[in-house]
Amino acid sequence: MNDRSANRAARSHLAELRQLIEHYNHLYYDQDAPVISDYEYDMLQRELAELERQHPEWADAQSPTHSVGGKAARGFIKVRHQVPMQSLTDYFSEAELCDYLQTARKLARDNGASEPVQFVVEQKIDGLSVSLEYADGVLKRASTRGDGLIGEDVTVNIQRLESIPQRLPQAVPYLEVRGEIYMTEADFMALNQQQDQAGQKHFANPRNAAAGSLRQLDPEVTGRRRLGLFIFNIQQLQGKAFTTHHQELDWLRELGLPVIPAEAGIPYHSDAEVLAAIKQIGERRGLLPYGIDGAVVKVDQLRLRDLMGETSKAPRWAAAYKYPPEIKTTRLLKIEVQVGRTGKLTPLAVLEPVLLAGSLISRATLHNEDYIREKDIREGDLVRIVKAGDVIPAVTGIAEGQRPSLRPAFEMPRRCPACGAPVIREVGEAASYCTGSDCPAQLESRLNHFVARDCMDISGLGSGLIKRLMAMGLLNSIADLYRLKLHRSALLQQKGLKDRSVDKLLAAIEQSKTRPLANFIASLGIRHIGLQAAKTLAGQLHSLARIQAADLDQLRSLPDFGDISARSLHSFMKAEVNQKMLDELTELGVRPPEELSPEERATDTPWSGKTIVLTGSFPTLSRSQAGQRLSACGAQVTGTVSSKTDLLIYGDKAGSKFNKALELKIPLQTALDFEQQMNEWVREQEEQAES
Ligand SMILES: [Zn+2]
Repeated sequence: MNDRSANRAARSHLAELRQLIEHYNHLYYDQDAPVISDYEYDMLQRELAELERQHPEWADAQSPTHSVGGKAARGFIKVRHQVPMQSLTDYFSEAELCDYLQTARKLARDNGASEPVQFVVEQKIDGLSVSLEYADGVLKRASTRGDGLIGEDVTVNIQRLESIPQRLPQAVPYLEVRGEIYMTEADFMALNQQQDQAGQKHFANPRNAAAGSLRQLDPEVTGRRRLGLFIFNIQQLQGKAFTTHHQELDWLRELGLPVIPAEAGIPYHSDAEVLAAIKQIGERRGLLPYGIDGAVVKVDQLRLRDLMGETSKAPRWAAAYKYPPEIKTTRLLKIEVQVGRTGKLTPLAVLEPVLLAGSLISRATLHNEDYIREKDIREGDLVRIVKAGDVIPAVTGIAEGQRPSLRPAFEMPRRCPACGAPVIREVGEAASYCTGSDCPAQLESRLNHFVARDCMDISGLGSGLIKRLMAMGLLNSIADLYRLKLHRSALLQQKGLKDRSVDKLLAAIEQSKTRPLANFIASLGIRHIGLQAAKTLAGQLHSLARIQAADLDQLRSLPDFGDISARSLHSFMKAEVNQKMLDELTELGVRPPEELSPEERATDTPWSGKTIVLTGSFPTLSRSQAGQRLSACGAQVTGTVSSKTDLLIYGDKAGSKFNKALELKIPLQTALDFEQQMNEWVREQEEQAES
């Protein structure tokens, strides 16, 4: 190798090292998902530093050798937990929990325990898990749980909290405790009010508020937030020994540490005692000033815990019990009627805000007119609301013993509250519909649906901006979206929209013109035609023209298509107003690419027959454009990395898919390489065609 080519090789190695280290930094700092060991990472850093030392002419202020330290200092330093901070297995019924207790007893016996197993029951605080380490009685380090193995150092923030002693009255060489940082419901409400006044965003629930308050880069901010702590376990202890968990907690209380409240009568032996304690906590949970998300059952004897051990995820000596959905009572202030994108009118309860299952609820669904009448729910009533998991909160009825208010019974308006058009309710249907063809409420819902991620994926166009653009008269139809570029100056006058975000928004709108056919069909918001049905249509009929032309029989014969969806699609496509809209969109350049059937796909390209996943952002193509090109070349482009994946093509900001591919040892290609390969291949094809 001559000097020049050696130099070139060194230079490209340097570029590669910088890129690699930046990639690992991103995974480590931004995604909390390190994929290489600290040692390997240090080796890469050292190699890069050495190369930069040999070639000062290639110095770059942006090099990770300069920026990593700064970044770590600005963020939080990572802490590897000596004792993993594991999570618990959840149980949802008393029967399941009794099974667990039986299993725990058997496990202890099988491992040589002769004494009966004792249990304790504790509240499971809904907060943020932290570890505190005291050396010789002085708080040395506090860290968040993170992923259980690696957390973040939040010592300076924790030091600002009055509730946590910095120095213990009785020093032991080393003590690590685990606890939960929380915010009371009252402090959460007050904080959100302050956020309002400061024009800042609301926290969704006390847990988010606690986490956000603790992970402040400015510890003074943490100090001003009112955070509490409940310690619930000793992770490590030197210089002292106990035989049971409850003795340990008693000792921590003596030291003045904030410890989780002890339930009466611990430790317990029988199932009945454990269940009674869980029931007690459940009955009190609505009265506690802080939120809990269950109860924890733990084996009390430390020796038995050691015997029972743990799985890779959870200890075998503890379990969590989850209570059934919480029901709360609040005042129904008003019944509003919302108009959906298909014109459907939905009654919505406007409530006096109340914390339910950890979230502040001020609206809940009332389903439909019949539901409200059956339960005789009226404005001004005290009502019961329930929320299960991620489900929308619902009003289940009026609170027991409450006399219905004297307000008149609810009636669905005869005319649409948004456009004044007559409202109809078809025989046999529970829902009422607005019949207006120019209903602004319908248009607004349709626009919100059209731009959504599964649909045209126009990011930067939130519901607030859609409302404002409609009010300005810039959005009177879906097609108007593609005319927004003519109103750049009007967009720039919008609050919060800068040059760059307007450019990004307009680019996203342009890019949506070539969204895959299935997403385009889904974006039209046709009743009964969601993304899955749209995929079937695109996969079977391949083009918008063919979908528009399909007759009822043809549609009914599609896989998973019944009479209802076939009719719904058919009547949508036959309606003149919709045909006009589709024509208008086509004229404006919205051309979802035709989907090729397997027979039509190319079989002799470098990508034919391969299953390929794309992730991150690509240099020049959008990810969907890259996907379309690959499909046209006979590849099957899928969304998830599995052992069946042949190749992962990754661009900037690649995340979990990249890690998964590394883990499964799937071949990788950078987006840049892919685009070059694709361009070269296209050029070759053209040359061959010419010669
Ligand atoms: Zn209307």
